Amino acid sequence: MTDKIALVTGGMGGIGQAICTQLGKAGYTVVSTFMRTGRDEAWLEQMQEQGIKAKAYQCDVCDFEQAQQLVANIKQDLGASVSILVNNAGITKDGTLRKMTYEQWQDVINTNLNSVFNLSKAVVDDMTNAGFGRIINISSINGQKGQFGQTNYSAAKAGMHGFSMALAQEVAKKGVTVNTISPGYIATEMVMAVDENIRNQIIAQIPVGRLGKPEEIASLVDYLASEAAGFITGSNIAINGGQHMK
Ligand code: NDP
Repeated sequence: MTDKIALVTGGMGGIGQAICTQLGKAGYTVVSTFMRTGRDEAWLEQMQEQGIKAKAYQCDVCDFEQAQQLVANIKQDLGASVSILVNNAGITKDGTLRKMTYEQWQDVINTNLNSVFNLSKAVVDDMTNAGFGRIINISSINGQKGQFGQTNYSAAKAGMHGFSMALAQEVAKKGVTVNTISPGYIATEMVMAVDENIRNQIIAQIPVGRLGKPEEIASLVDYLASEAAGFITGSNIAINGGQHMK
């Protein structure tokens, strides 16, 4: 058990909720950001029902000032600084490059990549001063192999890992690790809403023969957050049922 604070961006989404639940059950005080007003009520109830200490803050992770304010508010409200940061918030706005608008490009880079800068910058000094910290970036298989119609998303997700490798070197001696997790197709609402025939075609490309579970991503986050994982840094860990190996 631990009494550390874990901040999960987008912790009310498909994968984020599983991460919050797993970390909460491990004893962390879990803090999640949300965008849409009112989104936090059901989440807070669910966390409470499971005996998890949880708090939610409305924050647009694309906004640098909001991210700095969020971390300052957490410190003031909870009386301790963030030990674990999970950069999980993400969006897609697909289109082939010929059809992709500048806004589609900007929105996806802002949400998936600039947010990682915004939040990491806000927590890194407290982590290095404390001599312990974990930054875990949720990327994607499509950042490793590229994906048709996703120049924006593939670039942002690949960029997350470049960021992880560089920051990992800067903070390694201070007890802070920085890693990337690259999930393949996970059975979240979004993926389950895809037409069954298309979903079956996707599954046919996965050697394990099924979609991943959000809980499988959460277990890996829990391990990377632990003291036991202190020798893993700058890694990009694929969790994709064998769909892409390198
Ligand atoms: P969801 O859409 O379920 O959740 C995404 C979360 O991000 C939402 O809670 C949303 O908050 C939040 N979010 C979006 N934009 C912002 C913003 N500007 N500021 C703050 N929060 C924001 O997605 P998943 O759970 O499926 O995905 C989680 C992560 O995993 C993403 O980074 C995604 O790219 C990655 N991933 C997912 C895969 C999958 O198969 N599902 C596969 C590979 C990677 P709100 O609801 O309040 O708008």
